[in-house]
Amino acid sequence: MCRTLQCVTLAARHLSPEREKKLVFLTARVHPGESPASFICQGVIDFLVSSHPVAQILRDHVIFKIVPMLNPDGVYLGNYRCSLMGFDLNRHWQDPSPWAQPTLHAVKQLIVQMNQDPRVSLEFYIDVHAHSTMLNGFMYGNVFEDEERVQRQAVFPRLLCQNAPDFSFSNTSFNRDMVKAGTGRRFLGGLLDDTSYCYTLEVSFYSYMAAGSTAPVPYTEETYTKLGRNVARTFLDYYKLNNHIKDNRPIHIHSSEVTGDSDRKGNGVGRGAGDRETERSRDVRP
Ligand SMILES: [Zn+2]
Repeated sequence: MCRTLQCVTLAARHLSPEREKKLVFLTARVHPGESPASFICQGVIDFLVSSHPVAQILRDHVIFKIVPMLNPDGVYLGNYRCSLMGFDLNRHWQDPSPWAQPTLHAVKQLIVQMNQDPRVSLEFYIDVHAHSTMLNGFMYGNVFEDEERVQRQAVFPRLLCQNAPDFSFSNTSFNRDMVKAGTGRRFLGGLLDDTSYCYTLEVSFYSYMAAGSTAPVPYTEETYTKLGRNVARTFLDYYKLNNHIKDNRPIHIHSSEVTGDSDRKGNGVGRGAGDRETERSRDVRP
């Protein structure tokens, strides 16, 4: 086993007790102009409610809570970033008002309530956005003093990089910028316990670097949706890796379910050296 995957495996095993039902919380479209986030969210939902064997196994073991549109009034008005009242909702997670930021207030209440429920373990919070300058799909995560927690946080994006040719682990970064204070990822990262993982999932507004090519491939509604499907199925890899799911039914992922082709050498602009390292590790998947 290569060193990277060994580290991933060890990190993933450090998880909360199996008696709890795992819970994944996904939100999208807090920024109303970022419509690719809706296609990704649609892909996640379509996959999870499908008869695909991976989806069936996931439904048996994991609870998914999805809020596809956190800023419906902003979307209705055609705003790029703000709500009806002019707030960037992704800067108000610390103290959302029930009248000024009602959707945020309600979702935060629900997350806090679920985090206190002893029957479930809220393990993932992922907020889906679109990025106006970067290529590919990638993630932002949090910075921790505990190196082991940092490694554990890198597990999911590494697995997603193996599954989605348009997702770049090398573009994924972990930060604590002041400008990002008040975002869902930053605030919930501090609220939830240290076995939870909070990410912002970003996808390019325009293109991803196709494997073996130097020319960016424009994203389409279909390829955004495929990234959503790949996000959903990556939870099976994750929960198999940490032994929460022990189902060994043979599962065939059809090539049409992923974007790009099979020769995934990546490129410095989109998928880089870090992605190639992750790709070399993919034979060790559970
Ligand atoms: Zn955004």
